[in-house]
Amino acid sequence: MDCIFCKIISGEIPSPHIYEDDQVVVINDINPQAPVHMLVLPKKHVESVAATTDEDQALLGHMMRVAAIMAEKVGIAESGYRLIVNTGRDGAQSVLHLHLHVLGGKQMTEQMA
Ligand code: 5GP
Ligand code: ZN
Repeated sequence: MDCIFCKIISGEIPSPHIYEDDQVVVINDINPQAPVHMLVLPKKHVESVAATTDEDQALLGHMMRVAAIMAEKVGIAESGYRLIVNTGRDGAQSVLHLHLHVLGGKQMTEQMA
Protein backbone atom coordinates (compact mmCIF):
# COMPACT_ATOMS: atom_id res chain seq x y z
CA MET A 1 0.00 0.00 0.00
CA ASP A 2 1.30 3.42 -0.92
CA CYS A 3 0.99 4.95 2.53
CA ILE A 4 3.87 6.90 4.06
CA PHE A 5 2.92 6.03 7.65
CA CYS A 6 2.57 2.30 6.83
CA LYS A 7 6.09 2.51 5.37
CA ILE A 8 7.41 4.24 8.50
CA ILE A 9 5.72 1.58 10.67
CA SER A 10 7.23 -1.26 8.60
CA GLY A 11 10.66 0.42 8.56
CA GLU A 12 10.69 0.77 4.76
CA ILE A 13 11.03 4.52 5.36
CA PRO A 14 13.40 5.17 8.26
CA SER A 15 12.01 7.29 11.10
CA PRO A 16 12.99 6.46 14.69
CA HIS A 17 10.21 4.71 16.59
CA ILE A 18 10.36 6.57 19.90
CA TYR A 19 7.75 4.17 21.32
CA GLU A 20 6.32 0.95 19.96
CA ASP A 21 3.94 -1.72 21.19
CA ASP A 22 1.67 -4.26 19.53
CA GLN A 23 -0.86 -1.63 18.45
CA VAL A 24 0.96 1.67 17.85
CA VAL A 25 4.20 3.36 16.84
CA VAL A 26 5.15 6.88 17.98
CA ILE A 27 7.44 9.08 15.87
CA ASN A 28 8.56 12.70 15.92
CA ASP A 29 6.87 14.87 13.31
CA ILE A 30 9.22 15.74 10.42
CA ASN A 31 7.96 19.35 10.44
CA PRO A 32 7.43 20.13 14.13
CA GLN A 33 4.94 22.86 15.03
CA ALA A 34 6.09 22.98 18.67
CA PRO A 35 9.22 21.98 20.65
CA VAL A 36 7.51 18.61 21.21
CA HIS A 37 5.54 17.27 18.25
CA MET A 38 4.96 13.55 18.26
CA LEU A 39 2.60 11.44 16.15
CA VAL A 40 0.86 8.35 17.52
CA LEU A 41 0.26 5.98 14.59
CA PRO A 42 -1.90 2.86 14.79
CA LYS A 43 -0.12 -0.10 13.18
CA LYS A 44 -3.39 -1.00 11.52
CA HIS A 45 -4.00 1.12 8.42
CA VAL A 46 -7.18 3.11 9.06
CA GLU A 47 -7.64 6.15 6.84
CA SER A 48 -9.00 8.52 9.45
CA VAL A 49 -11.09 8.65 12.60
CA ALA A 50 -14.08 8.87 10.26
CA ALA A 51 -13.18 5.44 8.86
CA THR A 52 -13.06 3.73 12.26
CA THR A 53 -15.70 1.24 13.38
CA ASP A 54 -16.87 -0.02 16.77
CA GLU A 55 -14.05 -2.57 16.50
CA ASP A 56 -11.51 0.25 16.74
CA GLN A 57 -12.75 1.68 20.04
CA ALA A 58 -10.06 0.05 22.14
CA LEU A 59 -7.38 1.16 19.67
CA LEU A 60 -8.61 4.76 19.79
CA GLY A 61 -8.51 4.71 23.57
CA HIS A 62 -5.05 3.16 23.51
CA MET A 63 -3.75 5.95 21.25
CA MET A 64 -4.86 8.55 23.82
CA ARG A 65 -3.29 6.58 26.65
CA VAL A 66 0.01 6.26 24.76
CA ALA A 67 -0.07 10.03 24.15
CA ALA A 68 -0.32 10.57 27.91
CA ILE A 69 2.49 8.09 28.61
CA MET A 70 4.75 9.74 26.02
CA ALA A 71 3.95 13.23 27.33
CA GLU A 72 5.07 12.03 30.74
CA LYS A 73 8.20 10.46 29.27
CA VAL A 74 9.33 13.59 27.40
CA GLY A 75 8.53 15.87 30.32
CA ILE A 76 5.49 17.87 29.20
CA ALA A 77 2.82 16.17 31.31
CA GLU A 78 2.89 18.85 33.99
CA SER A 79 3.17 21.88 31.69
CA GLY A 80 0.44 20.51 29.44
CA TYR A 81 -0.02 19.68 25.78
CA ARG A 82 -2.54 19.53 22.98
CA LEU A 83 -3.85 16.44 21.19
CA ILE A 84 -5.12 16.89 17.65
CA VAL A 85 -6.67 14.51 15.13
CA ASN A 86 -7.13 16.25 11.78
CA THR A 87 -9.89 14.54 9.82
CA GLY A 88 -10.75 14.80 6.14
CA ARG A 89 -10.61 17.78 3.81
CA ASP A 90 -11.96 20.51 6.06
CA GLY A 91 -9.92 19.09 8.93
CA ALA A 92 -6.81 19.62 6.77
CA GLN A 93 -5.71 15.99 7.08
CA SER A 94 -2.73 15.55 4.76
CA VAL A 95 -1.75 11.94 5.45
CA LEU A 96 -4.60 9.47 5.06
CA HIS A 97 -3.51 7.12 7.86
CA LEU A 98 -5.08 7.92 11.23
CA HIS A 99 -2.68 9.71 13.60
CA LEU A 100 -2.82 11.62 16.85
CA HIS A 101 -0.67 14.76 17.11
CA VAL A 102 0.88 15.43 20.55
CA LEU A 103 2.05 19.05 20.77
CA GLY A 104 3.73 20.71 23.71
CA GLY A 105 6.72 22.48 25.17
CA LYS A 106 5.29 25.92 24.50
CA GLN A 107 2.17 27.90 25.34
CA MET A 108 -0.53 27.08 22.78
CA THR A 109 -2.94 29.82 21.75
CA GLU A 110 -6.57 29.71 22.80
CA GLN A 111 -7.50 29.78 19.15
CA MET A 112 -8.84 26.43 17.96
CA ALA A 113 -8.87 27.15 14.24
P1 5GP B 1 -1.99 15.83 9.12
O1 5GP B 1 -1.91 17.16 8.44
O2 5GP B 1 -2.36 14.73 8.14
O3 5GP B 1 -2.81 15.83 10.36
O4 5GP B 1 -0.53 15.55 9.66
C1 5GP B 1 0.43 14.83 8.96
C2 5GP B 1 1.73 15.10 9.67
O5 5GP B 1 2.66 14.14 9.24
C3 5GP B 1 2.31 16.49 9.38
O6 5GP B 1 2.48 17.19 10.61
C4 5GP B 1 3.64 16.17 8.71
O7 5GP B 1 4.67 17.06 9.08
C5 5GP B 1 3.93 14.75 9.15
N1 5GP B 1 4.68 13.96 8.21
C6 5GP B 1 4.44 13.85 6.87
N2 5GP B 1 5.34 13.05 6.31
C7 5GP B 1 6.17 12.64 7.30
C8 5GP B 1 7.31 11.78 7.32
O8 5GP B 1 7.77 11.23 6.32
N3 5GP B 1 7.91 11.59 8.53
C9 5GP B 1 7.45 12.18 9.67
N4 5GP B 1 8.12 11.91 10.80
N5 5GP B 1 6.38 12.99 9.69
C10 5GP B 1 5.75 13.21 8.52
ZN1 ZN C 1 -1.18 3.45 6.27
